[in-house]
Amino acid sequence: MLDKVLIVNRGEIAVRIIRACRLLDIKSIAIFSEEDPSALHVKMADEAYHLGTGAVQDTYLNIQKIIQIAHDSGADAIHPGYGFLSESSIFASEIEKTKIKFVGPSSKVLEELGNKLIAKTYAEEANIPTVPGSAGAITSLSEAESVCEEIGYPIIIKAAFGGGGKGMEIVNSPSSLEVSLLGCQSIAKKFFGRKEVFIEKYISSPRHVEIQFLADNFGNIVHIGDRECSIQRSHQKIIEEAPSFLDNKTRNDLGEKVCSLAEKLKYTNAGTAEFLWREGNLYFNEINPRIQVEHPITEMITNIDLVAQQLRITNDEELAYKQKDITLRGHAIEFRINAEDPLKSFYPQSGVVSALNIPGGNFVRFDTFLYPSYKLPNNYDSLIGKLIIWGEYRKEAIERSRSALKELTIAGITSNISLHKAILENHEFQSREITTDFLEINKIQEILSHYEKMKIAAAYRIHTLNKGMNTNLLKGFRKRNEDYNRWKQQSKFEQQRNFP
Ligand code: ADP
Repeated sequence: MLDKVLIVNRGEIAVRIIRACRLLDIKSIAIFSEEDPSALHVKMADEAYHLGTGAVQDTYLNIQKIIQIAHDSGADAIHPGYGFLSESSIFASEIEKTKIKFVGPSSKVLEELGNKLIAKTYAEEANIPTVPGSAGAITSLSEAESVCEEIGYPIIIKAAFGGGGKGMEIVNSPSSLEVSLLGCQSIAKKFFGRKEVFIEKYISSPRHVEIQFLADNFGNIVHIGDRECSIQRSHQKIIEEAPSFLDNKTRNDLGEKVCSLAEKLKYTNAGTAEFLWREGNLYFNEINPRIQVEHPITEMITNIDLVAQQLRITNDEELAYKQKDITLRGHAIEFRINAEDPLKSFYPQSGVVSALNIPGGNFVRFDTFLYPSYKLPNNYDSLIGKLIIWGEYRKEAIERSRSALKELTIAGITSNISLHKAILENHEFQSREITTDFLEINKIQEILSHYEKMKIAAAYRIHTLNKGMNTNLLKGFRKRNEDYNRWKQQSKFEQQRNFP
């Protein structure tokens, strides 16, 4: 088995990887920036190395520094987690020049999949339908116009090397094509260093479906069920479920196609193929060549530790599972708890965790790096925790989720817990009538804002009653008013709010 793994990440995924290392008796090595000396992953790892000061390019994205740390610490493998350098072919190829192993596919595969256009071509070769659009990157306005004319509006312009929901522009009519094209190219250049963009038909109100797969270094590939990630904000997932709504046959057929695509790519380690679904049609979107944020819901319904499998594959072990061994049981839901204010356009939040209550009980998992008194820095991803719930059926998972969300308190940091509570109470969500524009269609933020106003009005009413009278009846009101003021003071009252 591997002896020492360097974890090139922070936050909940670094903690998750450390746990997998411990289970396999592998020593874990953490890295940290100047904002992170007291981060949980640093406390938990067997060793930790300071990345020095500076912007993220100088720390968690500094390839030379990280490889030096890998050598100095005697690491025999590097796990990149998700985000940061996880999809960087340059990073993987630098590691390939050493004796250290990369927990992920080869640099060649990463390079190919980094370009969404190449990934689409591979999918077409594997007979997987893709979204109609431009054959390659768009080089001129006239070329863009003729593609849009052919496929019809609305269209979406996407950065070929994009990720994280950034660099996408929806265009509804020819009049805004030029501005959107230029805008998208400049965002692509700014965030991804490459200005290439391409055009696709905009599939309105689609559902997001994805297939998890694992491939070892000996040509064995298995698909490990599907997930639905249709509840999104700004093209980023916030609630994921496993399995998706696909029937067994469609799921297995899709899984087989994904495995042959992975074979064509000579893919190794864990990966996810993403699709858009509308009216019975599935369109390939992209492959994410790394562990996904939402991997725990697959773990919950398959009982397979995906991160441990990643490490075993890197250790040149053959997959312990054949396709027939993979069975799905029950239903799992993941709620991404983000430090962001859903009532202020999801503006990122920071602060000190003044109180933390993590839900417990059967079938409840909470992956986080928070602890009481932890100071959350404001320059990293807003994900602060993942609440993962299992039920025999979806309805049971929803009921358990409602109870767990009520228990969850993160005082001191405004988060999107109230948004999740509102979504759970939505009838369309309960009956699984969900699409990627669910939040807008169901006016979830407006409903939240309404509750906020009701809560303030109720508190004010209690306050005025309290001032004028002094009866036993009002003692109860006063008690609630005091509680309310205390919650508000700690900026956590939205976590405590119960929706009717
Ligand atoms: P990223 O790599 O930035 O995460 P993706 O290509 O995976 O971007 O797309 C993220 C989300 O954007 C999808 O789940 C979907 O909601 C939306 N999206 C992407 N392409 C299309 C499309 N052609 N039509 C409609 N929505 C799309």
